[in-house]
Amino acid sequence: MKFGSITPELIAMSVQDRHYKDLKKAILAVSDALNAELADLVDAGCKVVQMEEPQIHMLAAKGLSGDPVLNVDFMVEVFNNTVRGLRGKAEIWCHTCWGNPAGQRIFKTMPSYAPALDGLNRLDADVITFECCSMGGSDLEAIGKGMKEKKIAIGVVDHHTLQVETPEQVAALIRRALKHIPAERLVLSTDCGMGREGMSRRHAFYKMVSIVQGANLVKRELGLPEGPCLAADDRFSMVE
Ligand SMILES: [Zn+2]
Repeated sequence: MKFGSITPELIAMSVQDRHYKDLKKAILAVSDALNAELADLVDAGCKVVQMEEPQIHMLAAKGLSGDPVLNVDFMVEVFNNTVRGLRGKAEIWCHTCWGNPAGQRIFKTMPSYAPALDGLNRLDADVITFECCSMGGSDLEAIGKGMKEKKIAIGVVDHHTLQVETPEQVAALIRRALKHIPAERLVLSTDCGMGREGMSRRHAFYKMVSIVQGANLVKRELGLPEGPCLAADDRFSMVE
């Protein structure tokens, strides 16, 4: 089971604070509370925890380094405090994306992850996710150069569009990624969650199928074992 959790700064920034009356104190208090709950969850057997999503890339893209609370260094401190003691018992993922309220983009032109890579490298996490499909893979070289140890999960399907990416399109993005990221550290994912109001389950389902089929195209080229994909097996297809 992979458990996704909101990050402390997003909770603290979203609620009315009648107790701490101080954003930094509120964030750290929520961080401690989340850490205790996540520790219980991991002790109960949860093997993968994904934090969604520290504001590191957003703040780095906006260049707001002077704020005493909303700055990259403090966001790194908060993340590491929230997951302290968990790594080793569970695989820790950090999700990043550029937002999708109601399936909409929130930037006129997509920002770059490049200014955020230093902060993301300092996270106590095993896997960092990067939105890549909607950005046309523009940051793949920077990500490959900047992230030398952690696993890198790239989004190979877009969460803003209903048109399902073909396996060939997915495979093309994977091939580009492999020029900069070694296969052993490359993980395939979606750009972001598709469960919000912008997309039906059917669209989301077939996008997942494309991820598996696209990966299989590349695995075949590399001589690696392919993953089963029952949804694309004629014996089980639901033609309407
Ligand atoms: Zn996201």
